[in-house]
Amino acid sequence: MKINQEIKNEIAEKLNEKKAILPCGRCGQSKFSVLDGFVNLPLSEEINGNMVIGGPSIPCAVIACNNCGNLSYHALGAIGMLNKDKQE
Ligand SMILES: [Zn+2]
Repeated sequence: MKINQEIKNEIAEKLNEKKAILPCGRCGQSKFSVLDGFVNLPLSEEINGNMVIGGPSIPCAVIACNNCGNLSYHALGAIGMLNKDKQE
């Protein structure tokens, strides 16, 4: 799955469906943007500073507050966006 406007709109719709619509937790403003890319948060079994390339990770959509830039991460699997690649 590659990020594009259609995917960004779909992410916004899924977050609305999940009622993830509260104002920014830092500044209280309520305008947000879906950023033009995904992040893969790496999971580590130990806190030793070593990162395993190709290890387990959580693919996420990144939402930014338009006012203060506070970032929130939503796991793509939890909002039903991960099975899209299987459909394609
Ligand atoms: Zn904010």
